[in-house]
Amino acid sequence: MAVTRHEAVTTREAEAAHEAVTTHEGGNAHPGGTAAGAATVLDAERVREDFPILARTVHGRPLVYLDSAASAQCPRAVIRAVEDYQMRSHANVHRGVHLLSQEATAAYEGARDRVRRFLNARSTREILFVRGTTEAINLVAQSYARPRLGPGDEILITALEHHANIVPWQMVREQTGCSLAVAPIDLRGELDLEAFRARLTPRTRLVAVAHVSNALGTILPVAEILSAAHARGIPVLIDGAQAVSHRGIDVRALDCDFYAFSGHKLYGPTGIGVLYGRESLLAEMPPWQGGGDMILTVSFERTTYNELPWKFEAGTPNMSGAIGLAAAIDYLEALGLDAVAAHEQRLLEEATAELRRIPGLTIIGTAAHKASLISFTLEGIHPHDLGTILDSEGIAVRTGHHCAMPVMEFFGVPATARASFACYNTREDVRRLASAVRKAREVFR
Ligand code: PLP
Repeated sequence: MAVTRHEAVTTREAEAAHEAVTTHEGGNAHPGGTAAGAATVLDAERVREDFPILARTVHGRPLVYLDSAASAQCPRAVIRAVEDYQMRSHANVHRGVHLLSQEATAAYEGARDRVRRFLNARSTREILFVRGTTEAINLVAQSYARPRLGPGDEILITALEHHANIVPWQMVREQTGCSLAVAPIDLRGELDLEAFRARLTPRTRLVAVAHVSNALGTILPVAEILSAAHARGIPVLIDGAQAVSHRGIDVRALDCDFYAFSGHKLYGPTGIGVLYGRESLLAEMPPWQGGGDMILTVSFERTTYNELPWKFEAGTPNMSGAIGLAAAIDYLEALGLDAVAAHEQRLLEEATAELRRIPGLTIIGTAAHKASLISFTLEGIHPHDLGTILDSEGIAVRTGHHCAMPVMEFFGVPATARASFACYNTREDVRRLASAVRKAREVFR
């Protein structure tokens, strides 16, 4: 059975991933790590072997991939799970009596349950497969906010949001006449929590915030945000695009109403993402797209809609993407989210210290709690030029506004260079980044 083969593949890869983690008694315990006094240490060199793309060269230099916040690379486990599905079980889901369709359906729905366990959601009815974070937020905008909001109502976001968590609400504003309030950040890139609380008013009908800022790295105090909003009965959407690969997400412990993320930032394929929604809210929301699979019956007079979660999944879904995402979750959990987070934090600290030593370099985003990315500018060099020089050294960083133009405006810069660290990055990557930035500085002096 192909479904069993999928399990066999992911289990074998997961076992390999396990070997990349050692436990040291008495080490620096990471919050939420293993047994008391023990810290899990990730063997990043060993992890790298799981990612075939990292073996390639770029412009004749070994690749240093520091753009995982845009898209993380896929481990072999994910590539194989997708390949295995396509080679053995691919067929359309939910509609076929034939074996392949049943296998594909079992694998696709199995992936949904894998995501449910990853997020600790109560039910698979709360797990909607979408294209990515952007589509998840648009779904909530169009299906939750648009039918409910009108003039006088307000949606509250923060000043550090990605465009994906700004524009869908502006569209709702145009459609309904509601307004959009923005809670400010400070010069470190931290949310001003008091100002946020002050902006919660009887008019606020929805809060939508990033868990981690993609432009600054700031980890937002989502527990405080949730409790302040819930104290007023206001539902909260969390954009988890930058958070899921760095920390365990427990939607029940968080008690959030919506949580969105993308597979490609979690070592999974592109074109697949997840919207977690509290069942009581999803049940009240109308479907936002119509078509096959989301219906129970259709006549020209009347259509009845399918149950959750399929009510929100019109058309043929991305089966291979969902299967790849489940394999990515298996892989990451076998490495251990705590071990990965501790490893990334060490790289963040080292890179911050290294880059700070470079004259003319300014780090944009210096929050006390940051995920493993660093945005920076270098005096006298446009970030795009810097990115090009780094690329010629085989180093992939992102340059630009990072789909967060209001953040760039707040800090008075047109763009930044951004290095982001994942489970497969090493101290050598940090060293090569710092030395290439120094070299760029010399070129432009
Ligand atoms: N939100 C944040 C914080 C992001 O970093 C991104 C992508 O960079 C998105 C939303 C949009 O994700 P996607 O393009 O996968 O839909």
